[in-house]
Amino acid sequence: MNFSLTEEQESVRKMVRKFVDREIIPSIQEWDEKGHFERGILKRLSNLELMGVGIPEKYGGVGMDYNTLAIVCDELERGDTAFRTALSVHTGLNSMTILQWGNESQKEKYLVPQARGQKIGAFGLTEPNTGSDVAALQTTARREGNKYVLNGYKTWISLCDVADHFLIFAKTDNDKNHHGISCFIVERTFPGLTTKAIKGNLGIRAGNTGEVFLEEVHVPAENLLGEEGEGLKIAMSALDHGSFTVAAGACGLINACLEESIKYCHELKTFGKEIGKPQLVQQMIAKMSANLEISRQIVYRAGSLKNEGEQNTHETSIAKWFACDAAIEAANDAIQIHRAYEYSNEYSVERFLRNAKAPDIYEATREIHTITEAEYTLGYREDKPISKKLPSWPFVESLETSK
Ligand SMILES: Cc1cc2nc3c(=O)[nH]c(=O)nc-3n(C[C@H](O)[C@H](O)[C@H](O)COP(=O)(O)OP(=O)(O)OC[C@H]3O[C@@H](n4cnc5c(N)ncnc54)[C@H](O)[C@@H]3O)c2cc1C
Repeated sequence: MNFSLTEEQESVRKMVRKFVDREIIPSIQEWDEKGHFERGILKRLSNLELMGVGIPEKYGGVGMDYNTLAIVCDELERGDTAFRTALSVHTGLNSMTILQWGNESQKEKYLVPQARGQKIGAFGLTEPNTGSDVAALQTTARREGNKYVLNGYKTWISLCDVADHFLIFAKTDNDKNHHGISCFIVERTFPGLTTKAIKGNLGIRAGNTGEVFLEEVHVPAENLLGEEGEGLKIAMSALDHGSFTVAAGACGLINACLEESIKYCHELKTFGKEIGKPQLVQQMIAKMSANLEISRQIVYRAGSLKNEGEQNTHETSIAKWFACDAAIEAANDAIQIHRAYEYSNEYSVERFLRNAKAPDIYEATREIHTITEAEYTLGYREDKPISKKLPSWPFVESLETSK
């Protein structure tokens, strides 16, 4: 596998970097302090066609590959985790899942406007008693003629107040445990769906996360994604796509910590020498730098497998686990290097540390990724063939052959 970036990927990196420097970094501290989600950023990302990276042109996207999506996430999170989270949810958890599991009319109706950034997608799996244990979910969907009626409550749903379309997971058969879960495309405008943001979060304060209430929501039967009972498989493949983008974003957070620390090391002096001179400070810089390199390589390995149409749950899980851990360590060390000044919110490093925590929890916790790794290693877990595959890249060829 060759993980060097193409000219096109390099130019996307530069474009997103410039965008982040101009549109996010100057205002992020204020947005974070006020707990304000700046919707205009999503609009500007769609003007740059960045909501359609990783989606074929046939479905409204720009046809760029999955590693280009990783680069966009990496550079966005250098600005702030809130906007990378938004892209992870919109593209990774929602659009790529419709791309993989949707039928042609669902792709036409929902994926095309999402890939163009005209509509925003979210992902509703978690409930008060359902996080890692997906089979425990209690939201129900009862079939009535040509529609389903959904009742339940989702929590910690990113973009809850912003999204136009939600993928909602619900039990269609209570007796079948995880085989009784199904997935529905639910529009915000369907009567009975309401949302409410959660405030006072530790990190990603410039984001939007909250609750989704479903009370007798009538969903047309044609909005069932995949088949009845395929919800768990759909959720797991969505988490593969989402985790991939989270891992890529963690690289951006490590990079942000590294850039701030390097600047500070050259600017400030201790005992008459630059702060970068003592070996114990160099050890922290070296770790950040090496972890950035390693994290990007393992993200690109997972992305290359996606491009080739190969299963990548194991590789994606390693990338997400390693990069998110490394991001927390980098943020912690960046504060150490910056001494007391970064303990206040006058600088950005304290925000990096607060932001680094949620990616360690969402899209499967660190513990779940640890167990996944152990199970693959011990031979207790192996990939099973999947009925619907994410299109490989280049898209034009893979969509032609799948006809
Ligand atoms: C900022 C943010 C945004 C989010 N956005 C979304 C979203 O858009 N959509 C969505 O559906 N969800 C979202 N979530 C929810 C997130 O996916 C869940 O919080 C996550 O899956 C963990 O579930 P839980 O919080 O219920 O913890 P639990 O699953 O209850 O876990 C609690 C603790 O027990 C550990 N644990 C659980 N089971 C095991 C086990 N078998 N072995 C070892 N340890 C175990 C966990 O690792 C964790 O440490 C978001 C969360 C946050 C914080």
